[in-house]
Amino acid sequence: MRLALLGPPGAGKGTQAARICDAFGLLHFSSGDLLRAEKLKKTPEGQKIRDYIDSGRFVPDELMLGIIRNKLASIAKQGFVLDGFPRTLSQATALTEFLAEMNRTLSLVIDLAVDPAVLSRRFEGRRVCPVCLSVYHVDLMPPQREGICDHDGARLVIRPDDMPAVVRTRIDTYRQTVTPLLDYYRQAGLLWKVDASGSVDDVWVQIEARLSQPDMRGSSAA
Ligand SMILES: [Zn+2]
Repeated sequence: MRLALLGPPGAGKGTQAARICDAFGLLHFSSGDLLRAEKLKKTPEGQKIRDYIDSGRFVPDELMLGIIRNKLASIAKQGFVLDGFPRTLSQATALTEFLAEMNRTLSLVIDLAVDPAVLSRRFEGRRVCPVCLSVYHVDLMPPQREGICDHDGARLVIRPDDMPAVVRTRIDTYRQTVTPLLDYYRQAGLLWKVDASGSVDDVWVQIEARLSQPDMRGSSAA
């Protein structure tokens, strides 16, 4: 199976991707992890990526796509879950081309759709330990003592990224960029939308059932 996961920040892409990989023996391909790994390499590309990330700018498509193409070539046989890529329509068309070069296609694109109110609540409740970077949530994953890290007793903080105004901007930006991407995959007959407003387990049950259907088993054998 070759899958891509779409969904706004806070939809639980990373968590679901990890579960899918465990259950179905696929490789977790996270563009964030990949960039962080490349950034540490002492190569000209590594240096360029460091410059972009350290100055808080997006890594441009041209650079990103080269890295991803190499990585895909090394994992295409095993099957994978793409998490955080593609983000734009041009990345999606490039992905289709890369896979076509290897005589492959995606099996399914999973759209993790979350009710906007639920999404805001997820961010607003998020707290981070400034010392060990553990992440908590006031409702979903509270620390043993309110506002205090379980591991080191540090006072938990709200990340600047999780402030309501910033969250709204991130969600709006996501919606604008994802719309053409959803259309593209819908037209290709690859899009499957799942309601990801519930708990991690609720969402997982739906995904597992979908990926266990005969059409998916067929594509994993191909
Ligand atoms: Zn801590």
